[in-house]
Amino acid sequence: MTIHQAVRRKITIALSVSAICVALLLAIVRFWPDAPWAWTGTFLMLGAITPLLYAVWLVSCPKCNAIFGQRKVFNVAFNLAGILYCPNCGAALDQPSHGP
Ligand SMILES: [Zn+2]
Repeated sequence: MTIHQAVRRKITIALSVSAICVALLLAIVRFWPDAPWAWTGTFLMLGAITPLLYAVWLVSCPKCNAIFGQRKVFNVAFNLAGILYCPNCGAALDQPSHGP
């Protein structure tokens, strides 16, 4: 697995968890707004926001462990803006994420 794939995997999982929580939250709001268990939507809100904060603040380069940050992480994950090297350590994003 390359650095690019490893970062994209983390971001995809985070965005998927967030999207599922948003969908469940919208379902509660739409179909069961007065249910006695509707308060669990609070945790769904946390579940929607936390993965986004994780993606922006905590996803790091597998080589140098430096956090990409909000300006770079989506560019690296989805190959936007033509970033081919880690902005922190200069490692090529298509080299294996583990090993020498
Ligand atoms: Zn790096």
